[in-house]
Amino acid sequence: MLHRAGHGSVEVVAGVMFSGKSEELIRRVRRALIAGRRVQLFKSHLDDRYGGQFRISSHDGRQIDAEPVSNSVQVAEKVRPDTQVVAIDEAQFLDDGICEVVDALADAGMRVIVAGTDMDFRGEPFGPMGLLLARAERIDKLHAICVVCGDPATRNQRLIDGKPAPAEGPTIQVGGAETYEARCRRCHEVPTRDRAQRELLLRRGRGWEGV
Ligand code: ADP
Ligand code: ZN
Repeated sequence: MLHRAGHGSVEVVAGVMFSGKSEELIRRVRRALIAGRRVQLFKSHLDDRYGGQFRISSHDGRQIDAEPVSNSVQVAEKVRPDTQVVAIDEAQFLDDGICEVVDALADAGMRVIVAGTDMDFRGEPFGPMGLLLARAERIDKLHAICVVCGDPATRNQRLIDGKPAPAEGPTIQVGGAETYEARCRRCHEVPTRDRAQRELLLRRGRGWEGV
């Protein structure tokens, strides 16, 4: 990796599914293309919403294709030394090593833009997103609309056969039959976790009584 004097930085676009992270990433990449910057775009191969192809075009006819990656090492290997802007979509599916990679790229003078879902379906930090948020110079947390009440949504609701999925399921379901909705904190349901929390609160309550 070439070390250049320049103002490298890390920007994270975080938020729930459907909050417009990809739209915002595309907007920033399109503007970088208009500015004539050399841009590389990556996305996790786990995301197939774009039918395997994810291309961003600017109105002046320049375009780039997203390069699929499965881990942070592949990002490091694929970045060309003369690249000025590195954009990564669906970063929640990558490993924690992506933190060192984006730091190294920013130290080398590149502008790094990372988009990802910051919380898993339980409401816990998703993959490396918490660590990336801590390291970023700039953070934008986007909200969707809660499909239940219409308030700003921050949580991913996992549903299996239309019912809220319990906390024990895997964080990443590949090819599963589940669906997702954007919901606010109040409308977000994780049955087993909710029950466990209630039991903990009750136990604490009894503890207080015994003092
Ligand atoms: P993300 O990358 O955060 O998943 P996208 O940029 O792919 O989001 O999609 C955002 C778009 O999703 C919105 O512009 C809107 O048209 C659509 N959408 C679907 N459901 C919702 C919702 N519940 N709240 C907000 N936008 C939604
Ligand atoms: Zn709600």
